[in-house]
Amino acid sequence: MEKKPPPSRIETLAVHAGERRPGPEGSIVFPIYQSTIYAFHEGTDYHDIQYIRLNSTPSQRHLHDVLAALEGAEAALATSSGMAAVTACLMSLLKAGDHMIAGDTLYGGTHTFLTGDAPGLGIGCTFVDPHEPETWKAAVRPSTKVFLVETITNPMMRVAPHKDVVRFAKEHKLTTIIDNTFASPVNFRPLALGYDLAFHSATKYLNGHSDLVAGCIVGKSALVESARHRLNHYGGTLDPHAGFLLARGIKTLALRVRAQNANATALARMLAAHPKVAGVNYPGLETHPDHKHAREILSGFGGMLSLRLEGGLAAVEKFIPALTIPFHAPSLGSVETLVVRPAQTSHAGMTKAERDAIGITDDLVRVSCGIEAAEDLVDDFRQALDRS
Ligand code: PLP
Repeated sequence: MEKKPPPSRIETLAVHAGERRPGPEGSIVFPIYQSTIYAFHEGTDYHDIQYIRLNSTPSQRHLHDVLAALEGAEAALATSSGMAAVTACLMSLLKAGDHMIAGDTLYGGTHTFLTGDAPGLGIGCTFVDPHEPETWKAAVRPSTKVFLVETITNPMMRVAPHKDVVRFAKEHKLTTIIDNTFASPVNFRPLALGYDLAFHSATKYLNGHSDLVAGCIVGKSALVESARHRLNHYGGTLDPHAGFLLARGIKTLALRVRAQNANATALARMLAAHPKVAGVNYPGLETHPDHKHAREILSGFGGMLSLRLEGGLAAVEKFIPALTIPFHAPSLGSVETLVVRPAQTSHAGMTKAERDAIGITDDLVRVSCGIEAAEDLVDDFRQALDRS
């Protein structure tokens, strides 16, 4: 009898990907193998050594299988944080004398690595506007190796023309890397579109419960293997205990992200129609500059939005404390709704003029929708607007 292909729907994958049947000792939930070391057996050579820092122990291999299946990747690697994923990825592809191009609105930590650390290592980076493909060619040099972008940018929620990025990179023989944190594999599968490598801050949607820091890299086996060598040397390995929590969080990924998509849509629609709101950035709104394109390539518009109030910063300073459900806290992708002012958090390292130039005004509020009832969130935001 022919074997059925494994299921590929994200809901089923999130629950069953990577599972062992039968599991160790008949377990349904893959256990935490906390052992740092494993006994040699006949024929063990250096590359077979199981050691936590080398990312080769049973719990780590299980988590890698889960992550690879979620993104439809040949291979995956868990890392100790999203930043460990960014740096292991980049440093496995670039050496002194190399150059890369990157979207100009990256996560602050990635941007700071590229502007503050990479130059000291002899690696150059030119930032390009992902929405102006006609400007990309001028940034490419003979030493350019990599093109790095994010699926949905923070905090303006722009969606780059990802098919063009992939096409351009192929033409210029660049390796494409995408930070898929904001979309999660529920809303976007970049490898299927042709990206070579994707990474996540798994701290966010993949785990979803604000209780660990982790990252991951997914993609072609040879590229992931090369990132693993770097990570092993840099020591950015994820501990199996945190990996267990991450694998548990992933089981509900599809349910959570679908609820977050729905909550963000409901909230964005209410806010867009409210007289005290000056503007809402959410790719699910027809008024968003990338709406048509986002519709084409995303399976959901995501749980993140940002807004400005007619009353400016003074109104925002009354609005945020008046919210009763969300926490005023950084990070994103968790079950709790979170609000922040990016000028005060992710983009505090830029000057006010630099921020204003890209729309990150002092009164911009970013919302990461949780999984609470949409009606409760809408009511809460409405009453906070009344008080602002
Ligand atoms: N990428 C994005 C889009 C992020 O928002 C973050 C963190 O906020 C990171 C990467 C870095 O992740 P971590 O904080 O897990 O190191």
